[in-house]
Amino acid sequence: MSLQILLIEDNEQNRYLLSFLLQSRGHTVTHAIDGPAGLACARAATPDVILLDIQLPTMHGYDVAQALRRIDTLHRTPIVAVTSYAMPGDRERALAAGCDGYIEKPIDPDTFAGEVEQLARIPPRQGASA
Ligand code: MN
Repeated sequence: MSLQILLIEDNEQNRYLLSFLLQSRGHTVTHAIDGPAGLACARAATPDVILLDIQLPTMHGYDVAQALRRIDTLHRTPIVAVTSYAMPGDRERALAAGCDGYIEKPIDPDTFAGEVEQLARIPPRQGASA
């Protein structure tokens, strides 16, 4: 299954690494370097899955997730937070903001693409039990 993936990430090294890992598995990756650019891309491209860094300039990742959720065409699109926030409660906060999953940085290059593929298949909006 080849996925159209939108990666919203401000760090160039992370963009390079994550794209490389995903493209190696045959997926197509579109980049956005901040929230407003990511929202524009998401509206234009309707990706299969959105990978969202939380520490972003200009617009916080949680706000980006909430804004993505308000886009009609993206109601069923999994949003995955990819973030080095590893404080207790961060996972819950990401899910509350509208994310469907959470992958912690530093990512594991051996398992990252597989995790994304798995999260891309989760049923839309698992709600409070997520
Ligand atoms: Mn960042």
